[in-house]
Formats: sequence, structure tokens, C-alpha cells
Amino acid sequence: MSYDENNIFAKILRGEIPCNKIYEDDFVLSFHDINPQKKIHVLVIPKGSYTDVDDFSKRASKDEISSLMQAVAEVCKINKLSLSEGGNGFRLIANTGPDGSQEVPHFHYHVMGGEPMGLRGLRKV
Ligand code: 5GP
Repeated sequence: MSYDENNIFAKILRGEIPCNKIYEDDFVLSFHDINPQKKIHVLVIPKGSYTDVDDFSKRASKDEISSLMQAVAEVCKINKLSLSEGGNGFRLIANTGPDGSQEVPHFHYHVMGGEPMGLRGLRKV
């Protein structure tokens, strides 16, 4: 899939649409999801143009990859989710493609927590 420069996260990165920012560095931006599914629902995105986690894993530099994972840790710390900081944990999700129900075609992690997740979507019923 080629990268769509007009996807909503590309517009947020260009400053054309506002976001409720949590964390930013040279390679990463993190902000609150506009339609939170849990008490805490945060998105962590690379600034580079990657469509999904597969594309990111193949094409991103080591600095981009390590920055993204460090940003996830930082966001979990800021939101008091990290087990190592006395939090109660979280779920990290990368919806990918049609079967993964990915709506926005710019790679992003969802960090969700603040309440129990349950197993919906993770088990066949
Ligand atoms: P996906 O289904 O692609 O994994 O998730 C996309 C997420 O982006 C959804 O949870 C949706 O609520 C969120 N989202 C869509 N548009 C916007 C927006 O304009 N601002 C923010 N902050 N989140 C958005």
C-alpha cells in the first residue's frame, strides 16, 4: 500500500489539524485518541511516512524504531500505567490492514489502560 499524504495523522503531523499532545521528540508524536475506548487511550505515531507496523519494521531506521519504543514507555510512565512505576498495566495495539480493522493508514500504536481490558477481540467466540 502506498502512503496517503492526506491521511488524518499526516495532517496532524503537519499542524493542519490540532491534537491533544502528550509527548513529542524528533521521531515521534503522541496524543490522546479523539474517541477514547478506555479511560486512557493514547496514540503513539512515528513522524515518518509509514503505513503500518510491517512497513515501519522494514523501512524505519534504528533510531526511529528505538525512539518509538522509548516513547511508548514514556507515555505509559506519564499516564501512570507502567508496572515498573507502580501502575496497573496497559494494552499496546497496532491494528494492521483490513483484517486488523486499521482505519488511519499511518502507522500508530494504541496505548489503552486505566481500567481492565477484557479479552474481546483476542479470542474466538
Ligand atoms: P485504527 O482503527 O486506524 O487503528 O485507529 C485510528 C484511531 O484514530 C481511532 O481510535 C480514532 O478514534 C483515532 N482518530 C481518528 N481521527 C482522529 C483525529 O482527528 N484526532 C485524534 N486524536 N484521533 C483520531
